[in-house]
Amino acid sequence: MTVSGMPPYDDNNIFARILRGEIPAKKVREDEWSLAFHDINPQAPTHVLVIPKGRYCSFADFSATASADEIAGFIRAVGTVARMLGLEAPGYRILANMGDHGGQEVPHLHIHLFAGRSLGRMIPGP
Ligand code: 5GP
Repeated sequence: MTVSGMPPYDDNNIFARILRGEIPAKKVREDEWSLAFHDINPQAPTHVLVIPKGRYCSFADFSATASADEIAGFIRAVGTVARMLGLEAPGYRILANMGDHGGQEVPHLHIHLFAGRSLGRMIPGP
């Protein structure tokens, strides 16, 4: 189901191809619900992407249509990855871009996990 004006899910988006193993990724963790891997163009000393295994374009359709098990599995995976990487004590930031104004480039829901230095204010200037 498509919500909020997003186009239908594109099975050839880069993260779908990573999930199918067609494109390599530096994996951090994988489980039934999620895959975590390092961002190819890191914006912080640690920059990991966590994606659900289901076909969701964005937070909009995931939050509207994913099952309770998928949502719980995915959100727990984000926290588990941060814990695994030892990021809880120093702290970290999670972020999901949605759509045009959100600056989303890849149309498969992903949570960015940033850490490894003080990350400053939430939203940088234009
Ligand atoms: P968005 O702007 O959609 O929130 O973020 C997309 C992210 O995906 C960017 O941070 C970008 O560097 C990352 N990315 C794009 N293509 C690839 C890829 O092929 N492999 C990996 N590991 N990351 C990618």
